[in-house]
Amino acid sequence: MKPETIILGGGPAGSSAAILLAQAGYPVTVIEKETFPRFHIGESLLPSANRSFCRLGVLEDIQAGGFLEKRGAEFTTPTRDKEVINQFSDGMRKDLTSAFQVERAKFDHLLLERARGAGAAIEQPARIHQVQSNEGGGWTVSYEKNGQSPQKTARYLIDASGRNRILGKHLKLPDESLPYPKRVAVFAHFRGFPRRPGERAGNIEITRLADGWIWMIPMAGDRTSIGWVSGLQSWKEGSGSPEERFEQTLAETPWLQERLANASRIGPVHMESDYSYSYQNFAGADYFLTGDAACFIDPIFSSGVAFALESGIAAADSIMNHSPQEKGIPLAAQKAYTRRFQKGLQTMRKLTDLFYSDAGYAILMNPKNPFGIVPAFNSVVAGEVRPPFRIRWRLWIILSLYRLNERYHFVPTPPLSPSPQ
Ligand SMILES: Cc1cc2nc3c(=O)[nH]c(=O)nc-3n(C[C@H](O)[C@H](O)[C@H](O)COP(=O)(O)OP(=O)(O)OC[C@H]3O[C@@H](n4cnc5c(N)ncnc54)[C@H](O)[C@@H]3O)c2cc1C
Repeated sequence: MKPETIILGGGPAGSSAAILLAQAGYPVTVIEKETFPRFHIGESLLPSANRSFCRLGVLEDIQAGGFLEKRGAEFTTPTRDKEVINQFSDGMRKDLTSAFQVERAKFDHLLLERARGAGAAIEQPARIHQVQSNEGGGWTVSYEKNGQSPQKTARYLIDASGRNRILGKHLKLPDESLPYPKRVAVFAHFRGFPRRPGERAGNIEITRLADGWIWMIPMAGDRTSIGWVSGLQSWKEGSGSPEERFEQTLAETPWLQERLANASRIGPVHMESDYSYSYQNFAGADYFLTGDAACFIDPIFSSGVAFALESGIAAADSIMNHSPQEKGIPLAAQKAYTRRFQKGLQTMRKLTDLFYSDAGYAILMNPKNPFGIVPAFNSVVAGEVRPPFRIRWRLWIILSLYRLNERYHFVPTPPLSPSPQ
């Protein structure tokens, strides 16, 4: 008998685990509180996510799903006097050259329907309010659905509940506080926002400000996601509604002003706050933490969904590889799972530090290419987060230049303020 798994949450992490388990004939139930399609943030994917789509057998569905192709990332100063374009095809990894910009409402719905089609049971809308570890092994999950409070038991749990982190909070798992200041993100969708020319039309654009940054993510159907990330402290010091302050920040950024002239907002302004955490261990003998339920770092390099998909797949693989053993997932496999994703997390943290430090940002905005360090950087931002040696040592040079610049200031920081300094 194949053991049963309950998956808490039906975002990309939950759906990817469910697809694999169901395809292999394992009984699996996903419990998701929202009715899909629903809005969710996290719209710019990395090329490395395509590996997961191939593994899940959904690449063709995604290609046919009407999502915009993304070929790179562009960094622009607020006054647009400096612009750095990272095309993935210029990277060292020739298999990581393009990705997708996705409207999450459609994307998450597609994946969850694939899980259903593969044979997963989907409880939706159903809000989990309690998880309990059973004495003889396994778990009981209690949830609310249609005014009822049913319970379900299973041998394994996969927490894919995103930043709600149901299991981590329930088990009071030790988490690592990441040394990042708290931040606030305010964002909305627009229509009529002009695209970059030619092959760059699907690129994400990022403009760093003194205490935050702005993203512009083009999507299919003339839709563009625009978001503003601000330090929580400076957010608290300001006044006005999130909507007013968002519009004011966009209006004050010259590079955006001209492009917003004929654009209009087509949905509500959303807000998220207070993020960046990581649990110390991502797995136990009968559970896995996946995606944001395991860790969340700053979204600047768009790694969240790629990590969610990959960790969902790895959790399902581990259950399938080890479930015949009475005692559940062996300690070595639990540790290997944590190590694998912590390693990727460390790489993303180094890039995040580089971006937020003025000295590091100066290096990022003045790319020089001794020893081919720029193609190496392109591959890492394409999602090569556990890079082989030939990319790793080049990344080390970039990070060393940043540390040296912190000390000796040999590369000036480009303008961070919309107005002349
Ligand atoms: C401002 C911001 C910008 C971002 N930009 C990007 C980006 O450009 N690219 C990128 O890759 N990532 C980005 N991210 C990160 C991305 O949103 C997440 O990493 C990704 O969605 C994680 O997927 P997940 O499946 O782990 O969790 P989620 O996508 O959050 O899915 C969790 C699911 O669990 C369900 N759930 C939660 N609690 C319960 C409950 N009690 N009962 C039942 N169901 C429950 C939720 O409804 C949800 O559907 C961004 C994040 C933020 C905050």
